[in-house]
Amino acid sequence: MTAVQSSAEGRGELAGVPRRRFRRPSLLVSYVVAVVGLYLALTVDGIVRTPVRLEELGTFGALLACGVVCVEVTRRLGMPAGVARDLLSAWWLPVALLLPPVYALVMPIPMQALLQFRVRRTLLYRRVLVTSALGLAGACASTVFHLVVPDPLRGAPQWMIDVYPGVPVAVGCAALFTVVNAALVAIAAHAANPGGRWRDVLWNRESLLLDVVELCVGVIVTIISTLSLFLLLLALPPAVLLQRSLMHQQLQAAARTDAKTGLLNADAWQREADTELSRAHRTQDPLALLLIDIDHFKRVNDTHGHLVGDQVLISVAGTLCSQLRDYDVVGRFGGEEFVVLLPGADTVEACRVAERLRGRVRRLAIPAEQGTIGVTISVGVSLLRTHGQDLIELLAAADLALYRAKQSGRDRVCLPALDDPRTPDAPEA
Ligand code: GH3
Ligand code: MG
Ligand code: MG
Repeated sequence: MTAVQSSAEGRGELAGVPRRRFRRPSLLVSYVVAVVGLYLALTVDGIVRTPVRLEELGTFGALLACGVVCVEVTRRLGMPAGVARDLLSAWWLPVALLLPPVYALVMPIPMQALLQFRVRRTLLYRRVLVTSALGLAGACASTVFHLVVPDPLRGAPQWMIDVYPGVPVAVGCAALFTVVNAALVAIAAHAANPGGRWRDVLWNRESLLLDVVELCVGVIVTIISTLSLFLLLLALPPAVLLQRSLMHQQLQAAARTDAKTGLLNADAWQREADTELSRAHRTQDPLALLLIDIDHFKRVNDTHGHLVGDQVLISVAGTLCSQLRDYDVVGRFGGEEFVVLLPGADTVEACRVAERLRGRVRRLAIPAEQGTIGVTISVGVSLLRTHGQDLIELLAAADLALYRAKQSGRDRVCLPALDDPRTPDAPEA
């Protein structure tokens, strides 16, 4: 489906975690406390035990400064709402590989504080968890790398130039950093939304590509830093450019997306639907439109509160996405109303898909304070050429059909009535 979810999702900021409330607070809270506790204990222990070396402090300062410059230079672009990815690990990775583990533990603190106060405020516990995950991931990578290359700064050219384990191990440790960080955040996201798919909180093609880019830049910066800190001045401009273009791309995606559900918003849906409609006119292929409305949604809000209502919207949107094909165009039209364009679908296929969606939504069990709640949907279906030639006519016909579905008892799929003067040729559902 053409829902813009993946690109807006990242693990820098807890993808998939509902912002204001958790479904299983005790499990999630225990997990967050354990991760943050471990992080703080290791950091304090590291600070106490690690001897101060000026050379290490200098390297740490230079890499931290590069990270700060990256944040400051991209700050004015803004940050998309919800979750966002950045390439700042490119600066954390050299810290983890070249310096003792304590530096990897400390590095995320000033960087995340900067993001929190200069770029975008997010809930404090989320920021603290992300900081801890980055710190722990960095410490893991650092510990493993130092086992193979005990003093990377001193023996610099040695481990780089002899192709002996140095560079491959650096790449392996960079991957370890990414995996540990992703896993720590994904477990929290899954604890907050146990019904969600692991795949959604771990990797998709887009985030994997970003991880690989981050890993490559991180290893290159590591090698450069061991040659001379002044060479960092050469690495900084391309890193800033990459970071800016990533932000720009995410902001563009966010402008097309409904922040609550991750589906296309109404404007973006309309644009994509128009493109599909033109194609269907050109190829003479069939095309169907589904207008979907959650039944008695106001009651859900009134009984369980708006936050549970929001979870219902997110669950229904997720169900719609999981049941549709990649090229179906699904959007949130506003409130508790969704719209789906099915290229290539005739009447039988459109009704079959609509019935499947209705059945799947019916089976949802959304956690609420007093057990779980279920909802149903009503669906209005319209067909290109049978009920209209353009988007406005198709939407109007689907709206009439939806009205019929509501009038005849809800939780059903309807086509526009045959006897309606506006849809003279419409077959009965
Ligand atoms: P029907 O079966 O006739 O569709 O009844 P309904 O209660 O679903 O429809 P109605 O239009 O009366 O109520 C829609 C409700 O949806 C009212 C509004 O407060 C709620 N709503 C709209 N957007 C959101 C949202 O983003 N979050 C939540 N929680 N509620 C929303
Ligand atoms: Mg409704
Ligand atoms: Mg409605």
